[in-house]
Formats: sequence, C-alpha cells, structure tokens
Amino acid sequence: MTLKDRLIRLIETGGPIPVSTYMQLALHDRQDGYYATRPGLGQDFITAPETSQVFGELLGLWVVHEWQAIGSPAEFCLVEIGPGRGVLMQDALRMAFVAGGKPFADAMTLYLVEPSPALRDVQVERLAIYEPQFAEQASEVPALPTIILANEYLDCLPARQFRRDGEEWRECVVGLDGDGALAFGLAADGRSAPEGTAQTANCVEVQVGLDILVAELATRAANGLPVHALLIDYGPVDRAPGDSLRAFKDGEQVSPLLAPGETDLTVDVDFGRLKRIATSAGLDVHGPTPQGMFLLGLGAQARLNQLVKANEDDAEAIFNAAQRLIDPKDMGERFKVICLSSKDLPKPAGF
Ligand code: SAH
Repeated sequence: MTLKDRLIRLIETGGPIPVSTYMQLALHDRQDGYYATRPGLGQDFITAPETSQVFGELLGLWVVHEWQAIGSPAEFCLVEIGPGRGVLMQDALRMAFVAGGKPFADAMTLYLVEPSPALRDVQVERLAIYEPQFAEQASEVPALPTIILANEYLDCLPARQFRRDGEEWRECVVGLDGDGALAFGLAADGRSAPEGTAQTANCVEVQVGLDILVAELATRAANGLPVHALLIDYGPVDRAPGDSLRAFKDGEQVSPLLAPGETDLTVDVDFGRLKRIATSAGLDVHGPTPQGMFLLGLGAQARLNQLVKANEDDAEAIFNAAQRLIDPKDMGERFKVICLSSKDLPKPAGF
C-alpha cells in the first residue's frame, strides 16, 4: 500500500487532517516519507551548497569568526539542522579548519540534527573525519556555547493553514472528494484570526516549528550560553505567507496532493513572525538580510576570484554557479539570512 493509500484510509476512518499533519506525514512518515526514503536532493530541487562550494566555505569562515568573537571557548558545539547530503558542512569545515587552525578543531564537536536515516547515511560518509554526533532535535545537543547553521530547513517545517470565511477563520484540511481522492477543504468549526494576521489577508500559514526552535534557543540563552543560529531560507519579510504550500518533483512544480512521499513539500517562511517571536523570547535578531548581500559582505567576490584563478579550465562554470547565489534575479534576493543570538554578543559578520 502506498503512502497515498494509507492517508486515504486514515481520512476515511478519522476524518480530514490539518494541512500540517499532511505535510508532516508526507515528508517524515518512517516507512514512506519523502525525506525518510527518497530524498531527491539535487534531483527534485537544488540548494545553495549544491550549487557552489563558495556558499559553505563562507559559512565556515563565519563560524570561525563568531567562535572567536565569543572568546574562542575551549569547547563548543557546531550544529547543523537538516544537513541534507552534508555538502555545506564539508565545505564549511574544510575552510574553518584552515582559518581557525588547531584551537578551532580541538574546541569543536559537530552535531547533525537529521531525522532521515537515508540522509544520515550520506552525511556520515561525507563527514566521517569530523566524527559527527547525530541528534533528533536541537534540544539533545549538550549545554555548551552553540553555533547553529541551517539552510533550507525552515521551509520544510509543517505549516498550519487558515482561511478567512466571513468573520471567522477556518483551518485548511486534507480530506476526500466525491470520488474518494485527496482534496483540500476547510475544517467545519471556525476560530478567531491567527496572531499577527493582517486585516486584508484571506489565507495565512503558521509554522509551529519556528516557535519550538526559538524556545530552544531562548532556553540556552537564559542558561547563560552564547548562542548564534544562522538560518537561511525563502519567504516574505513584511507579511505572513498566504497559501504558499507547493510540491516539487524532478525540478517541476506539481500538486501537493499528487504523490505524498514522492515529492518535496515546502512553504515560505514567515520571517516577520520569526523575528517577532525571537525578540519577545529575549533573543537578539540580526537581519533578515538578502543572501546576496550577506555573502558579498563575507567576501564572496574575493573567494570567487581565487577559485577562478586556480581552476582556469572551469572558470566560467565556477563563476556562473557562484553568481547564482548572489544575483538578485536568481537566489541572491529570494533567499534571506537571519541570525538569532543570545543577548549582547558582538554583532555577527555579514549583517
Ligand atoms: N541543508 C541542506 C538540505 C536541505 S533539505 C542543503 O542546503 O542542501 C532539508 C533538510 O532538512 C533535509 O536534510 C531534511 O531531512 C531535513 N529536515 C526536515 N525536517 C526536519 C526536522 N524536523 N528536523 C531536522 N531536520 C529536518
């Protein structure tokens, strides 16, 4: 039985499920979920570290800079949430070990937060020399100074969706149509507008995972640990995302209900809300700033010039790939970088 068949059964017996539950099962069902079984990284979608090594390398320099800025603690945790195929961390640590030398290498313990067994296998192979520890959740990482990186992780956190229905708001659900096929619908009972909803909005999405991450960072900060979490993703900065749920297969956009477990599901990240909840939890917030500006600020141009010089035969391909990360018409503006930090640390590089 496919995941789709199982979901249809589930809805037949228990009734429609919230969009967030659908997203959770389609991505993470142990048996048939997309990330658990057939992560199509590089096939269904291509991320920044998979596009150019400059991305991970500059983040590696950033990590060394921030580790030094908090006083080069003799022990700290470098955490990546959702490391995918491990390419970002591989590029980052190659560079960080050069820039930070032995003191950095000795101080760092690498933690990878990754629920997918299939991706853990890939990560352990690529990053074996750094002896990574695995965690299911960031909360399992020891209470030490912490630097977190996450690229394209927030956008796969399940979103609840709400739609305006006259004076009331209703939660969007996945149910069955007259032919017994998966279909979007609205929950029977209404509720008041979700927090932060603009008067003019007719549909909003709320990712509860953002609150969970912020709470974890705030707990560490409240315990006196220096913390930086550098998060990179797409989404609006000045309004809540409306209906942004979409699915990708082989680089093409398809219906989110077409083939649960076989397509990547993603939503826009509500950077405005992330900033609000982090600030009210007592964290310092830097950004969001466009990815292109951030990378240029970290020295993307100089690193690219070096690479091109050292690889003259591939110069054009190397140049074009790195340019995609920076170009405002490509990933440079659509992707944003935000850093959530414990209070009163030196301002992180790139902001
Ligand atoms: N950062 C990588 C991969 C992005 S794909 C890159 O830039 O190439 C999303 C990643 O997040 C995958 O590794 C996926 O398994 C992971 N992921 C999804 N949900 C997660 C969760 N709840 N906790 C931790 N990781 C998660």
